[in-house]
Order: sequence, then structure tokens, then C-alpha cells
Amino acid sequence: MPRRWVSQLGALAAWSAAAVLLGLWYGNVGWWLAGALALYIAHTLRHLYLLDRVLTSGKRVGLFETRGLWAEIFARVERLKTKSRNRKKRYHRLLREVRESTGALSDAGIILNADSEIVWFNPAATRLLGLDPAHDIGHRIDNLLRYPAFIEYLAEPDGASITIPSPVDETGALSVQIIPYGRDQRLAIVRDVTHETRLERTRRDFVANASHELRSPLTVISGYLDTLEEDPDLPESWQAPIREMVRQASRMTQILRDLIDLTRLESAEGKAKHEFVSMAGLLEAVVEEFRAREDAPAIELHLQTDAALLGNESELHSVCFNLISNAVRFTPQAGRVDVTWRADDEGAYLDVADTGVGIPEDQIPRITERFYRVDPGRSRATGGTGLGLAIVKHALQRHNGGLSIESAEGEGSTFTCRFAPSRIVTRQRESEAVG
Ligand code: ADP
Repeated sequence: MPRRWVSQLGALAAWSAAAVLLGLWYGNVGWWLAGALALYIAHTLRHLYLLDRVLTSGKRVGLFETRGLWAEIFARVERLKTKSRNRKKRYHRLLREVRESTGALSDAGIILNADSEIVWFNPAATRLLGLDPAHDIGHRIDNLLRYPAFIEYLAEPDGASITIPSPVDETGALSVQIIPYGRDQRLAIVRDVTHETRLERTRRDFVANASHELRSPLTVISGYLDTLEEDPDLPESWQAPIREMVRQASRMTQILRDLIDLTRLESAEGKAKHEFVSMAGLLEAVVEEFRAREDAPAIELHLQTDAALLGNESELHSVCFNLISNAVRFTPQAGRVDVTWRADDEGAYLDVADTGVGIPEDQIPRITERFYRVDPGRSRATGGTGLGLAIVKHALQRHNGGLSIESAEGEGSTFTCRFAPSRIVTRQRESEAVG
């Protein structure tokens, strides 16, 4: 038993013993004992009253005792109070620092709950989005930012960010990224990307205009070269150079065509439209086209699902064409290419697997960059422009999809395109919609 309790019980015993002795001396032991216990209870009640005052008013009280149970209880209460006061001060300081630092941030931070209602935002959100702390807390963010691309992204944030127009500046652009955290909480980070977007648009316009401007003179040059090549009177010494010029002119035409396609994809707003595209039909046509080529390896098509896609047919054709073209171009004639169209609960997948030259592991992340080639000589010799995979990546992004690449040098590569369930129509879903 702790010492303070021993001394307290000892005091009670001594007090009772004294009352009994006095009772024996003067008579009426019972009264003396009752009186002593009443005094003890009064003493205890007085301390409880003081303890109550200390706990409710928070004031200090003076005690007669400096030792014993009550002195220790009051000292402990004082210690706990000091500790909690210090903790409170620390929390206040921390809160002030958090408030000051989030206030100084140039990016907007908005905390959303599971229903996309605004829980908190920093001052930058007022500046960038015009949010008002007095009215907008508790409102759904998609009622305040009514851009279709944003509403779609909010329903299915895919880790990447999207760009939306600024609601407070007609010419401004904002990048929004939504990050899930905690239990059903989400943090939306909004950055002003007006400057970057303008620079990007200028670059894109320049490339698109330059490609268009170059196309017309190139068409004329190609036309004359074709005529010259077919001219039976062409001196023999000219035949080889003209053939090479025709080849190079057609390469330039292809590069310009790919550049125009890529800039068109990059400048297309938001996601691709939801038009019905039969992937089976599309893949059969592309595979047939490559099978007809003389030096192509064996190409097998495995249609494991009847799922169709909702998207843009020419962009999806571009995806299939570029991937199968690469597989054929980087695989020797003795190798094989397997094209598989399959689906599961999480999406639909297009795998293009080859047994070709493969890609060194450290270069895999870079091959979707514009004009990046592992072996520029081979790429050019086989008619590559260096833009195919950049086109594939952009087209897939516009279809809520993604590209993953697995490859081993000298053994082959597998390119897998993943499409989100929102883009897939199966027979079953079609008949449900009709029913
Ligand atoms: P290219 O016109 O050069 O094929 P791409 O953007 O389509 O341009 O591809 C970029 C580079 O990625 C290619 O030059 C090649 O080095 C590599 N690559 C793409 N597909 C394959 C493949 N199936 N096998 C091996 N390498 C590939």
C-alpha cells in the first residue's frame, strides 16, 4: 500500500483511538467515537470541496497540510494542470504554424469528405477558385466547379492531374490533383498553370503550323519525284538518287502526318467521345494488313472477349496500328507476334507481345517520349518516325486508359493497354441497356 494511504489510515486509527480513550475516561465512548468520526468526515468533505473548486475553476488553493494523502493529491492535480496547459500551448503554436504555412502556400489545398463536400481550404483556394470561407464550407465542390472534365475526374481520380479553366480569370488555367488520405478524406491540390499552359499552347501551335506549312511544298516535291521515278527516259545514274529521294520524301510526309496527329491529340480538350468501336473488327483489319506484308513475322490474333469500347475510332485505330507496327518492325521474320484482346472485372486489355529485339530495362520509361528511339538507325530503316508510342500514350489517356511495357533485351516485348470499365460495352451490358 502506498505510504500516503498508510499515513491517512494511521491518522484515522489514531483519531478513533483518542476518542475511545477520552470516552473511557469521561464516559459515553459511543458519543466520543461518533463525534470524532463526524469531525473526520467534515475534514474529508472540506478537502473534496476544495478539490472540486480546483478542478472546476482552475484556481490554486492553499492547504494546511504539506504532507499526507490530500497534500499529494493536490500536488498531483497541480502537476497535471501544468502539463495540460503546456500541451495546449504547444497545440496552439503548432496550429498557428500550420495556418501560417498553409496560408503562405501559393497552391490551393481543399479537404473534401466522402461526399465531396468541402471541409476546409487555405487562403490560396479563395484566390485561385474564388471560394468563400463564410459560404462554401459544407458545399459539394462539383456544385462550385461545374466543368464536365472536373466532375468526371472527381468521380474517378486516377492519380494524375487534370487541367481546368480558372473560374476567376477567363484566360487562366488550373491544374487539379486529388489525393485520397485518412478515412474517406480527399485532398484537392490546385495549382495555377496559366503560364505553363500558354507556353505549351504556343509550342503546340508552332509545331502544328510548321507541319501544315511544310506539307504543301512536300506534296509538290513528292509528286515531281514520283513522276521522275516513273519516267522511262531517266538516265541510269539518276535512278538510285531519285529512288532515295522518293523514300526520304515519303518518310518526311509520314513524320509530318504523325506530328499533326500528335498535336491534334494533345490539343483535344478533355476525354475522347463515347462512340461505339468494335475492337474485334478493328484488330482483325489491322492484323490482316500486316499479315499481307512480305517480311512480316507470324501474327496471331486471340479474341478472348466480345467487349467493345466507347471511344474515338480513329484514335483507337492509331493505338492498335502503332503497337502492331512496332511489334512487326522490331521482330525478325522467324519470330512471332501475339495480339490478345481480353477483359476482366477491372477493365479490358490489349496485349501486343512479340519475340523481337526487346528493349533495355533502363530505356523502357523513355520510349514513349517524342522521337526517343533505342536504335535510331533501325527505327528509321524500318520506316519509324519516333512518334508512334507518344501517339499511343496520348490516345490512351484520352480513353481513361494506360500503357504498360514489359520487355527483356533479345527476348521480346509485351505492350499492354488497359481500358477502364466505364469505356467497355459487353454483350451482357448491351442487352441490359436494351432490356
Ligand atoms: P518508332 O517510330 O521509332 O517505332 P515509337 O515511338 O513507336 O517510334 O517507338 C519508340 C522506340 O521504342 C522505337 O524506336 C524502339 O526503339 C522502341 N520500341 C517500340 N516498340 C518496340 C518493340 N515492340 N520492340 C522493341 N523495341 C520497341
